[in-house]
Amino acid sequence: MLTTPADFLGRIEAFAKRSPDEIAYTNGAESITRGALWTTALRLAAHFRTLPGGSKAPILLIGHKEPGMLAGFLGAAMAGRAYVPVDDQLPAERLERIRQVVQPVAELTPAAIREIAIGPLERTTACPAELDDPFYILFTSGSTGEPKGVVITWRCVFSFLNWLIAEQRFEPECETFLGQTPFTFDVSVMDLYPSLLLGGRHVSIPRHILAAPKELFALLERTNPTVWVSTPSFAAYCAAEPRLQQALLPRLRRFLFCGEALPHQLASQLLDRFPDAEVWNTYGPTEATVAVTSIRVTRELLARHETVPLGGAMPGVRVYAGGPDRRPVADGERAELLIAGPSVGLGYLGRPDLTAERFFEIDGLRGYATGDLASARDGLLFFHGRMDHQVKIGGHRIELEDVEANLRQLAGVSNAVVLPLRRDGQVEGMAAFVLATGRNGESDFELSQRLRRDLASSLPGYMIPKKWIFREAFPTNANGKADRKALQADLETPARA
Ligand code: AMP
Repeated sequence: MLTTPADFLGRIEAFAKRSPDEIAYTNGAESITRGALWTTALRLAAHFRTLPGGSKAPILLIGHKEPGMLAGFLGAAMAGRAYVPVDDQLPAERLERIRQVVQPVAELTPAAIREIAIGPLERTTACPAELDDPFYILFTSGSTGEPKGVVITWRCVFSFLNWLIAEQRFEPECETFLGQTPFTFDVSVMDLYPSLLLGGRHVSIPRHILAAPKELFALLERTNPTVWVSTPSFAAYCAAEPRLQQALLPRLRRFLFCGEALPHQLASQLLDRFPDAEVWNTYGPTEATVAVTSIRVTRELLARHETVPLGGAMPGVRVYAGGPDRRPVADGERAELLIAGPSVGLGYLGRPDLTAERFFEIDGLRGYATGDLASARDGLLFFHGRMDHQVKIGGHRIELEDVEANLRQLAGVSNAVVLPLRRDGQVEGMAAFVLATGRNGESDFELSQRLRRDLASSLPGYMIPKKWIFREAFPTNANGKADRKALQADLETPARA
């Protein structure tokens, strides 16, 4: 059981001392040994301790999946500062908004980390962090058009890791974790830290390989992971290739899914193709630290249920369908999924207003209202979609209003409604309905190209709508607001859209 920051760091250090030359982490062509990771983190921690500003002020780390990013996380943790990972492809405008919220004491890229990593090695001092100090801050899409920084403490991370490590019975020093998600997505916590804490190897998939199926399959075959951690979307993408079989990955013993609904058909396909591997569905929002429910998906479970259940709550955390009074509703009734316990984070950095909307207290526990609709049956929770306009596309969490707010700021846009594009029940993109003003003779195609380009200066690529529809006016509902339902119906009737 992890109980203190010193214990957490001590375990990673013990493996670094025992087998310093073993590879701890690989990202494409770059690797880092346990020893080098530890000494780089020590040097970074020494540097972070000397920075002016509050001793616990956060560090912004801008990069992708370079080993230096991981050293930066550990260095920040050793120095008792929270780290904020930011993708290096994030548009400058959005990065600036994050910077203003975080007010970091330092901002480092992997290149800057390499420079610091060749400095002298100082004697370490004990980690000053306490359990309720922030461990990391992750930014997610916010419905106001501003990204929201979710503050996760050491206590939250320990709550998650203690459960995951005990439940999954990973074998110390034997596992190779395959990590698909970027560090800006908390599913990465599910593969990174168990790997470090148990002396495993970590194989991260860089984005250029994600986009190149031939290289991706070569990497899978070469690295031969034992634990696969990804979104279901990624596994579905890989499973489109018939070669994704146990014969390709003979050591694979478990698939851990998180971040979006696990399709029944995908789970069944993986069970067929990987007779030696377990398939697990886990569920959770960033605000409650990676995952709070889990279930092993077996053939019997699939035969009993048409959709894959979210499973049961982890010990020590209440996860339930609850009413407006935050008390559980009757079994079978659909209500908002609520989470209460030590996995729930502190709230949104610098946004007490948004924090108060979603976070609550119940029986002395910290709670979070997820906005997911769920019901309980036979001791299991089932997911029934969202109560708001949040969607998941390829695992990315997007508030449609975030895209709308950024669209409305563009020249020539007087109003915008963004809706999900669905195929076979899955959201596979977004459609933007736009009221355009002052067109200057631009065709619909030219205008959509311009808006796409302009939007890309404030939003990451995955938040740019695929389909563009220009209207003179929007249908309105009884409140005089744009009628989203009518527009969604238009979208699903192609002749009228
Ligand atoms: P994120 O904060 O990016 O992890 O997104 C959290 C949201 O993803 C949840 O509130 C759900 O809407 C969705 N989600 C995560 N895991 C699952 C799952 N196993 N099944 C269905 N939806 C999920």
